[in-house]
Amino acid sequence: MRIANVVVANVVVANVVVANVVVANVRVALSEFIGVDMFYLGKVYNGYGALVGGGLELDGDGKLVRVLTAREAENVRRSHSSGARESSVATDERAAVVEQKPVEQTLAPKQAPATGNPPETVPNAPEYAPPFVDGALITPGFVDIHCHGGGGFAFPDNFKPEEIETAISTHQRGGTTAMLASLVSLADPLPQIEALRPFCERGELAGLHFEGPYISQQKCGAQNPAVIRPVDVDELRSWLDACKGWMKTMTVAPEAQGAREAADLLLEYGAKPSWGHSNATGEEARAELDYVVEAHARTPRFPKGDVPQTVTHLFNAMPSIQHRAPGPIREFIQAGRREEIACEVIADGHHVHPDLVEDVIDYLDKNDAMGGIPHAFFVTDSLAAAGMPPGKYTLGGLAVEVRNGVCYLEGTTTISGGATVLADHFRLFARRGNLHIATLVRACVSGPVHAGSLEGLPGVTLEFEPGVAPNFIVFDEDFTTKHVVREGKDLT
Ligand SMILES: [Zn+2]
Repeated sequence: MRIANVVVANVVVANVVVANVVVANVRVALSEFIGVDMFYLGKVYNGYGALVGGGLELDGDGKLVRVLTAREAENVRRSHSSGARESSVATDERAAVVEQKPVEQTLAPKQAPATGNPPETVPNAPEYAPPFVDGALITPGFVDIHCHGGGGFAFPDNFKPEEIETAISTHQRGGTTAMLASLVSLADPLPQIEALRPFCERGELAGLHFEGPYISQQKCGAQNPAVIRPVDVDELRSWLDACKGWMKTMTVAPEAQGAREAADLLLEYGAKPSWGHSNATGEEARAELDYVVEAHARTPRFPKGDVPQTVTHLFNAMPSIQHRAPGPIREFIQAGRREEIACEVIADGHHVHPDLVEDVIDYLDKNDAMGGIPHAFFVTDSLAAAGMPPGKYTLGGLAVEVRNGVCYLEGTTTISGGATVLADHFRLFARRGNLHIATLVRACVSGPVHAGSLEGLPGVTLEFEPGVAPNFIVFDEDFTTKHVVREGKDLT
């Protein structure tokens, strides 16, 4: 078995130039030992929306072997449709072949000068078709940095480990391979911090988002006004200490008393202010976001080009644009254009009109191939209701009900959060067809990753690197999720 493993590694390295049929045949003898190679086919986009191939090949450990070209992917499809089948050769015979023939020699291209044993044995190898998933499109796993729960459980309300696990896995199985757990305004969030931090440390969560409590009473949305309060730097420091580096963002109203002190403290700990739930004027918003641009630049822990701050669900829970008083929305959008802020948009089709979502995403998308990051991106703001049937749920102690796919505070018309996973947003806008698929990928991957500074964390894939267990989604031609692979493991 040890030998077989080594050999497979060689196959992987050596096979690029070998004709596909030969590759399939050789794999064959080997793959039955460890049940290994897997092909995922479809147009492959990286997290920046660049089209990089026609499929992904994974080894038995879930690590990426290589990105297939479109032609190689087509060959895999054809090798299946031509009726190739798995080997029925006895294990002992295969072991003998493996041990006698060094694989790099067995795999030498036929046209290459002979450097060792010629590949005569290959045509005699049994035919084999490695398992594969045929899709239309492959994107990196999506990243949701504003999400309160799913599967019937909400992070602010349900913090038994199995409840947290269910909420996370609901989103993971839907294609969200990395997420922040969002809290709401609470009298004391320490129990939630203690319950959620182990999930961050184990790589199941990418961190925590605090939505409040230093927000506007007038724009509290679905939050409990009784616990909204002015900034208290001592309590904020105690939460940051308890988070041990896992607090990534905190929603603060720019006009909140002490907002600037809160921003300073967040940056000191490597977290970012997320402006929102605000009744600020445009001038108030502009003053705070300008301040943070400078404060962030002074903080050595942030790399150059890092996004200094975010906006919590642009358009929702803030004053609307008026033509004589454009207010904070206009300031946030223009700061995004200057790359000084990144704007969350709830793109479920209910919180913001889809036409407006497309306008903002398009206006703040930066597409300079590798590395261009958008300054508007999708979030779900989902509650316990995500992945669940219509009914009644709880958020931060308040009752919410799902009607026609939207969450409302019970008995009101106040929208209180989402009931989706991020792939639902992707599908909605991909089917509308007004934004390029590459733009939508950026809105679901590189946008949120850079906004939250989540590069390198488990569940995050920006580029497909050989030897690394990737995170990705396979969609069919209708943009329905077919497979989700997280850290090399197929969750489907
Ligand atoms: Zn929220």
